[in-house]
Amino acid sequence: MSSQDNSNRNWSLQDFDIGKPLGRGKFGRVYVARERKSKYVVALKIIFKEQIKKHKIDHQLVREMEIQTSLRHPNILRLYGWFHDDERVFLILEYAHNGELYKELRKQGHLSENHAATYILSLTKALAYCHEKHVIHRDIKPENLLLDHEGRLKIADFGWSVQSSNKRHTMCGTLDYLAPEMVENKAHDYTVDNWTLGILCYEFLYGVPPFEAESQLDTFRRIIKVDLSFPSTPSISLDAKNLISRLLVKDSSRRLPLQKIVEHPWILKNANPMGICN
Ligand code: ATP
Ligand code: MG
Repeated sequence: MSSQDNSNRNWSLQDFDIGKPLGRGKFGRVYVARERKSKYVVALKIIFKEQIKKHKIDHQLVREMEIQTSLRHPNILRLYGWFHDDERVFLILEYAHNGELYKELRKQGHLSENHAATYILSLTKALAYCHEKHVIHRDIKPENLLLDHEGRLKIADFGWSVQSSNKRHTMCGTLDYLAPEMVENKAHDYTVDNWTLGILCYEFLYGVPPFEAESQLDTFRRIIKVDLSFPSTPSISLDAKNLISRLLVKDSSRRLPLQKIVEHPWILKNANPMGICN
């Protein structure tokens, strides 16, 4: 199933044995499943059509599913295909055995510089690939980053990127990962993802995002001022702080380009180029 392009095949629920639930999201539930013929293990995401209708996301969903199907990168969760019945849409996704990076981060408090740099390098490579294809994710945050059986990072949730970031402005979600131009509702381009890399790098190393505050309004104020400071504990290398400071730059045209992140001394010294954390 992994080797060939099956996105056009006519899959149905009969092709799969359904296993344990992996989680539930805003629009659906996710189960581990096994394709009966090949025994290939996947994650099956089930979304009720009623929900799609209610939230008027049908066009969005199809377009974004097409984007994710066309992306082929070791650090981007594959969408192998989809099918539907009367009530539900089923997305056949690559199975990320080790679940959410968010959970690992919360469990450990913060990550080592080696792990953080390895994840940032993986993310940078995946985003460079997306930007080449004119895809901006815009909703990169730890909940949307999954880990496979080897601990390799996989960006998930392309399906909802535009949708959920729009919602997050207006509803109760967090602003923490959004670039100044996005919280201010100004024009933005692919450099919003470079900003988010700076946010994540900080959160991986310190355990909390840099502009966290009691209220959304305070976070908003801190983001637009770029009110950045580095706590004394944990003790983090100057190289890491340098990289973060060069990504969290208000003027989006002056943020460190992705190619320069890959060559940054902190990445060169700390990251595993294979993308595996152990
Ligand atoms: P939504 O994507 O609907 O906005 P969400 O991101 O919270 O919401 P889902 O993407 O539906 O939810 O996934 C729910 C949970 O299921 C995830 O948080 C994750 O723990 C688990 N999960 C989702 N996809 C996979 C996968 N491919 N492999 C392993 N676990 C997964
Ligand atoms: Mg998700």
